[in-house]
Amino acid sequence: AAKDKQRGTLRICDASLKTAYAARRALSMDLEHAVERGELFLAFQPIVSLVTGRTESFEALLRWRHPSRGVVWPADFIPIAEDTGLILPIGRWVIREACRSVSDWPDDVRIAINLSARQFSDPSLIASIADAASEHGIEPNRLTLEITESTLIGDDGAALATLDALRRTGIRTALDDFGTGYASLSYLTRFPFDTIKIDRSFVQGSCESANHQVVVRAICGLAADLGVETVAEGVETQDHAELASALGCDFGQGFLFDRPLSPIDCAARLARERLGEVQARRGARPMP
Ligand code: C2E
Ligand code: MG
Ligand code: MG
Ligand code: MG
Repeated sequence: AAKDKQRGTLRICDASLKTAYAARRALSMDLEHAVERGELFLAFQPIVSLVTGRTESFEALLRWRHPSRGVVWPADFIPIAEDTGLILPIGRWVIREACRSVSDWPDDVRIAINLSARQFSDPSLIASIADAASEHGIEPNRLTLEITESTLIGDDGAALATLDALRRTGIRTALDDFGTGYASLSYLTRFPFDTIKIDRSFVQGSCESANHQVVVRAICGLAADLGVETVAEGVETQDHAELASALGCDFGQGFLFDRPLSPIDCAARLARERLGEVQARRGARPMP
């Protein structure tokens, strides 16, 4: 009987695996046409100075408006895009769209773009970014490419060469989700990043555990000595923001400041902020 039961369980597992596989296959077939059908769009989340509160840049976050499933989140389709290689054309679309978006904003506002490992090792990456930037008339230094630690694993030499080539083009780089992967602090000395984004588990954990605080303070201290900026991810509360700032983070990103926004809401945020600055300079009271 035990054996029957086991077999039954196996069959159920098998069936649900098949369903999952079929769902993934269907999604990946739809994804093939998502770019040409105009189903992809970007949301933009502000990255804010913890000192002045000013929006210094926006991170572009990819969304897929699926015709029947509604909005699909990156966690549900980026892995498929990576496995199928579709991340290359999709990534090129993201880069062009991000350049177009940033060209609508004031010159001192930058944009951060997420890159998958496959894009990072694509030999045509830098040319396609440079083309997109020049097409929209923006300086390459308004672009920051975010890569995660796992992208750097493997060929150190190749990763370093790509980072150097990006730097020579004027494109900035950020190490995303720092602390979640295999990277050690030595990565910060070895690879020339402009920015380190400290993963939200450390930012939020700092409010609960002294050990997390020690780690965040150490990362920020080392970064400052290396001339690297730090961004605290996942800032959801005033406590998160205050602690991140006290521990030495330069910038914050998270629901406290804003959720990922539509282009119209970005423009409104920037207008509100800049108007407030003008009024402050004139000594007027900010608008309610
Ligand atoms: P990420 O680059 O670390 O982006 C930050 C993620 O955290 C975003 O999720 C954002 O919505 C979420 N987030 C922001 N503030 C908070 C907060 O205060 N609390 C919490 N709990 N979450 C917050 P999203 O948009 O679902 O993106 C998930 C991941 O998908 C991104 O993580 C990035 O790795 C990847 N991704 C997004 N867009 C692209 C893209 O264009 N290309 C590639 N290759 N990957 C992308
Ligand atoms: Mg990111
Ligand atoms: Mg991140
Ligand atoms: Mg993250």
